Amino acid sequence: MSDWLRDVRARRVGLLVTGLAAALCLAVGLWQAVDGVVWAGVGLLAVAALLGWYEAHQLRATFRAHGLAMRGATDGLWSWDPVSKRLRVGDRLLAILGYSSNFLIDTHGWLALVHPDDRAGYNRAVARHLKGDTPFFYFEYRVRARDGSYRWIGSRGEAVRNRRGRAVLMAGSVTDVTERKETEARIRHLAYHDQLTGLANRALLDDRLALAIARARRGGRGGVAVLFIDIDRFKDVNDVHGHTVGDVLLVELARRLQACVRGSDTLVRQGGDEFIMVLPEVSWPASVAPVVAKLLEAVRQPLMAGEVELCVSASVGVSLFPDDGADAQTLLRNADTAMYDAKRSGGNVVRYFTREMNDAVRARVAIESGLRQAIARDELSLHFQPQLCIASGALVGCEALLRWRNAEGRNVPPDCFIPVAESSGQIVAIGDWVVGCALDHIVGWRAAGLSPPRVAINVSARQLAQPGFAGRLLAALAQRGLPAEVLEVEVTESVFLHPDSAALDELRQLRRNGIRLALDDFGTGYSSLSYLGVLPFDTLKIDRSFVNTIDAPDDARGDAILKATIAMSRAFDMQVLAEGVERPAQLAALQALSCDVCQGYLFSPPVDGAAFADRFLRAGPASVAEPASACQ
Ligand code: C2E
Ligand code: CA
Ligand code: CA
Repeated sequence: MSDWLRDVRARRVGLLVTGLAAALCLAVGLWQAVDGVVWAGVGLLAVAALLGWYEAHQLRATFRAHGLAMRGATDGLWSWDPVSKRLRVGDRLLAILGYSSNFLIDTHGWLALVHPDDRAGYNRAVARHLKGDTPFFYFEYRVRARDGSYRWIGSRGEAVRNRRGRAVLMAGSVTDVTERKETEARIRHLAYHDQLTGLANRALLDDRLALAIARARRGGRGGVAVLFIDIDRFKDVNDVHGHTVGDVLLVELARRLQACVRGSDTLVRQGGDEFIMVLPEVSWPASVAPVVAKLLEAVRQPLMAGEVELCVSASVGVSLFPDDGADAQTLLRNADTAMYDAKRSGGNVVRYFTREMNDAVRARVAIESGLRQAIARDELSLHFQPQLCIASGALVGCEALLRWRNAEGRNVPPDCFIPVAESSGQIVAIGDWVVGCALDHIVGWRAAGLSPPRVAINVSARQLAQPGFAGRLLAALAQRGLPAEVLEVEVTESVFLHPDSAALDELRQLRRNGIRLALDDFGTGYSSLSYLGVLPFDTLKIDRSFVNTIDAPDDARGDAILKATIAMSRAFDMQVLAEGVERPAQLAALQALSCDVCQGYLFSPPVDGAAFADRFLRAGPASVAEPASACQ
């Protein structure tokens, strides 16, 4: 028989004895004819005893029912006396936890087994039920088993109360819910973590960042730093080595980044090759700069993915609460903006957000949305700049250069809008428009009885990366009945950045079909003639910045480098064109070095189609001499 049942029986027996004693007193009082006051006292005593007996009877009935339930249940059982703090734990509950059946425990002992993180919640749930705030007690918590591991148990119970509503006993059962809890944890992990790297994902980041901001706002120590980390040229790794190698790289980078953070920091994979770090309670910039330096260094370390050795770097953008944003969304956006700036400056670098960056982003967004309508609203046009044979002065070609007069009537320089068009992908449609417009000019000039020279068009790597450019260009020529020789395609060395890219196939297709290729801006990029083995070019365009140094008094190397470049171009059977010729001294030097063709303000800036026809196509033969053989 359980203690509490024994308690009740003892209490009932006690009350019966009291009642009998009262009855005896009554009989003696009657017999001795004691006065009325004593009678009344004795009577009251008797009534109290009877009520006590009745309550004990009721409680006993409840306990009996409870006892039956406990005996019928297969779960672990427990009972607890809130007055004496005595706790009884059933054998099955002990078995769940791996303890033997004679394992004795009191309230304190039990609490010591409860997981420290769950103790407060457990005590609160018990207290609320004892107070009568909850119809029954239910709480899920971890209890230390005999082997030191923690089991999750769901404990359900109910208090037995006396007439005044005071709990005199609490009893119930527990269920082992470890498996369900683990499943739930796994599901939660999946919802909040990235499958590939095991890092937290964006959903968790939002929670953590909001929490860090709230703490900082309540006057916590320091600010909150948000680091946006993007792996440079990750796409190349995927394209060249395949996704499996890309995945190995991401997992390893995640591990390295994780090693750079403190326990209170949050690192998440935002998706793709982007990671975000939240550093709470940082002093600015003292405690942020070392973390950034450490993580840039960690990413830079070479790593092996199977047989492949990979060397990558990262671009990092940083924003800080409260200086760079009052809420999570603004901070993330500004860190992203700063990262974009880091990326644009070549990567492997950190950029701290500034307000000017936001202005740049706004300008970029305005350009992007303006460009969307540019073709439909007829805002684009082409200007043409002549290319002249140095030896003869003959017009041997012209470069078509894009112009955009936006909806507000402002001329937006190509250096501003072309990079935006490239990053937004709009360059593909714009590039097709350029091809069509250039060819239409040729058709128009020819129809007017003029003999236009070859027209060079600029084609960016992004245009070529999209398959089909060559096919569309050739179709545009055929549609107008024009031969391939009327066009030259200018590309920069950036097309070689992806060695196996589709861009080279597009260029090969063009060349096979008789379109000339020019390597633009030579001297600004890698300036390696080794590319010429990969893809033959017809023209090498020496960049303006390089031409500028030719006649600079303090730069004696200019001539030597130019001489070597021209000699090598000859070996590859290429024509050399000098861009940006502005001064007669430059022209003289180029002539002395037997450079073939030149283009620049010295002769003419780019002008519209009508002006070009007037000045260069309709002009008398004096200004347009027959091309020398090197200028064909
Ligand atoms: P780019 O291909 O190097 O074009 C030459 C640029 O130098 C042109 O600038 C031209 O106006 C300028 N220029 C020519 N001669 C001189 C000179 O003597 N001195 C100086 N200081 N500059 C000179 P623009 O027209 O502003 O074009 C800038 C860049 O925009 C071009 O550089 C090219 O990369 C790009 N671009 C222009 N049109 C197109 C296009 O249709 N498609 C693509 N993808 N890019 C284009
Ligand atoms: Ca060009
Ligand atoms: Ca150029």
